[in-house]
Amino acid sequence: MKRTPIFVLLLTSFAFAQTTPKITYIGCGSLYDGKHDEAQKNVTVKIIGDKIDSLSPNTKATEEEGSEVIDLSHEVCLPGLIDTHTHVLLQGDITSEDYDVQLLKWSTPYRTILGTVSARRALEYGFTTIRDLETEGAGYADVDIKKAINNGVIPGPRMQVAGRAMDVTGAYPVLGYSWELKFPKGVQEVDGADGGRKAVREQISNGVDWVKVYSDRSYYVRPGGVLDDIPTFSLDELRAIVDETHRERRKIASHAAALNGVHNSVEAGVDSIEHGMYISDADLQTMVAHGTYYVPTLFVGEYVAQGRAAAGAKVWVDMIKIHEDTFRRALKAGVKIAFGTDAGGFDWKIDPAKEFAIMVKYGMTPAQALRSATVTASELLGMQEKIGSLEAGKFADIVAVPADPMADIQQLEHVNFVMKGGAVYLKP
Ligand SMILES: [Zn+2]
Repeated sequence: MKRTPIFVLLLTSFAFAQTTPKITYIGCGSLYDGKHDEAQKNVTVKIIGDKIDSLSPNTKATEEEGSEVIDLSHEVCLPGLIDTHTHVLLQGDITSEDYDVQLLKWSTPYRTILGTVSARRALEYGFTTIRDLETEGAGYADVDIKKAINNGVIPGPRMQVAGRAMDVTGAYPVLGYSWELKFPKGVQEVDGADGGRKAVREQISNGVDWVKVYSDRSYYVRPGGVLDDIPTFSLDELRAIVDETHRERRKIASHAAALNGVHNSVEAGVDSIEHGMYISDADLQTMVAHGTYYVPTLFVGEYVAQGRAAAGAKVWVDMIKIHEDTFRRALKAGVKIAFGTDAGGFDWKIDPAKEFAIMVKYGMTPAQALRSATVTASELLGMQEKIGSLEAGKFADIVAVPADPMADIQQLEHVNFVMKGGAVYLKP
């Protein structure tokens, strides 16, 4: 009997905690809301719990008692950035040796521990949401990292994950060792239309948000500059995988760097083309017509080219120019371009925001580059009602930089304030 009041008290305090969410005010010196290309000066963002309640001109009078006030009067506020192509389970793979070490010498638990650090780094760089496009041999550890973040166990961005990814038998590392030995693979090996459908069902049952396929490999530059490849899946196989993914209301990303891989992927109806170093004009037109997204990942190509060329694969250096030309043609054709970096393909100690400067160097305005990592990326993820811009009702995912990124896009490499869902992870 004596315990009853305590129980009631606990219930009451729990209910109290639930019904009085924290109120935070952020006073921004200027703010890009993600909807307009121009900044607004002196804006106060009111946050209740994990959502934005209002944006209004700066005023000291509105602050309620017990609320927190964050002074960002010297900063520029922006919507939380979105990287739509990452690998938190990968810690750089310039050469195949870098890659093999991670799959052959590191256990999945050890790789997952490192992955939690990568996720925290992503958040601290200002990426409050990421689409993590496969674990490279670490099973569904991305599903667990996402779960740990969502349960508040570790800090990290919002995540959509792709689990194991798929390629055909014999096309994906670990490769090149004695045929007498069996090695782990960086993907799930899948063959045939029925095999593809079964793999989609299996991966979705294990918690993936996205399916990812590798559609081409073994690149070479034809005389005339077209980047050719060996397609992996047949068109029939790809169509079956895409159909099964969409039937189960998921989306599918295709690693497609060159002529045939891109063409087959676009024809099969994938939702996003990853890398797309060479895309024919005809396929760009189909992408516009289908609404297919292009995630170019420009920085990683420049980053890995020198290392891979030194290891004997000069094609990676030639591909940089081809990639730039494709990016410029895609921009002109009006293809939807979403920001993605392949972080993990390069070391997580490097800020993935370096991608922005290359997008601008290749012809985007700073406003277009920022939009690719906010509104456009949120649409690719199907989260445009929740993230991608600073508006009442959306998640309070807010970052800040020291000076105007429209005047100097590299300011995005200097994020000094990060809020995700109303919680502060980094302060100036
Ligand atoms: Zn990748």
